[in-house]
Amino acid sequence: MQVRAEAKGLELGAELRGPLPETILTDPTRLRQILINLMGNALKFTEQGEVRLRVRFLDGTPPAGDGGASPTLEFAVSDTGIGIAPTQLAVIFEPFRQADGSTTRRFGGTGLGLAISRRLAENLGGTIAVESEVGRGTTFRLLVPAGPLEGVPLLAEPSLTEQAHPTDTGVTSSPLSEPLDCRVLLVEDAPDNQRLLSFILRRAGAEVEVVGDGRAAVDRLVGVPADAHHTPPDARFDVVLMDMQMPVLDGYEATRRLRAAGYVGSIIALTAHAMEGDCAKCLQAGCDGYATKPIDSATLLQTIRGHLRERCPERPAR
Ligand code: ADP
Repeated sequence: MQVRAEAKGLELGAELRGPLPETILTDPTRLRQILINLMGNALKFTEQGEVRLRVRFLDGTPPAGDGGASPTLEFAVSDTGIGIAPTQLAVIFEPFRQADGSTTRRFGGTGLGLAISRRLAENLGGTIAVESEVGRGTTFRLLVPAGPLEGVPLLAEPSLTEQAHPTDTGVTSSPLSEPLDCRVLLVEDAPDNQRLLSFILRRAGAEVEVVGDGRAAVDRLVGVPADAHHTPPDARFDVVLMDMQMPVLDGYEATRRLRAAGYVGSIIALTAHAMEGDCAKCLQAGCDGYATKPIDSATLLQTIRGHLRERCPERPAR
């Protein structure tokens, strides 16, 4: 998220307000998924200012908010972005709903993130609510029951650094520090994602060229058939990162056309949400693998490295 905020010139802050229980009992994967979606949206729909996550503990003594009587953690994600009109506030949690007809065109997305987040929050026993003012910003409030807290210490001054357990990410070494020696064609229409992904890839050491839709990718990769055998090696790409949802020609069709034209290089699909069936659909279209958005830089770099090694086993594992 920090990388994305920096790429857009936004401030990103997190505040843990004590006292906070040292541990809670919940599903960390789902909780993280909801927060990633809320923070991702906040960054997506904000052009200036800041995105902030505030965490506090509602101990269950009234008035503790909608959390009711049980101890609850509140995560408030606020932004200074475009805001949401009052008429739209009621519907944005419905599947496939976006605030207005121009949202897909302007920002992309599927209108599923909030529907999934609300479902997940409810499955954790919690709720999500939203307050917003057009042109001023939006705050999403996620309430999650803390679970039984007997014997759990309350931290008066919790700090973010103390709580960051590197093992949580499942990544033992830092892939960001190992140079990624390859050329990547990034096929992505959303300027925000273009910036973010190029930033991640270039910072990792890759050379990146960006095209904005599937047709441009097909032109770039197999556009001049007579030239196919004479493409100088430095103009070839080790990996194509293909967004699947794009205007003009989407990633599925672009991949099908590339494969039909004999393109054999690695194509890794980027799909908007981890939807059931998505993976199979990408592979059917001819992709070699896929990564899901919101993009986790470590996972993406690992995926790319895996494909480079598969294609070229003698390549040193670096
Ligand atoms: P998506 O972002 O893929 O369109 P979501 O379900 O995550 O789908 O969000 C639904 C809609 O709610 C968005 O399209 C956008 O119109 C609106 N929205 C969500 N978060 C924000 C926000 N922080 N600021 C303004 N609008 C938002």
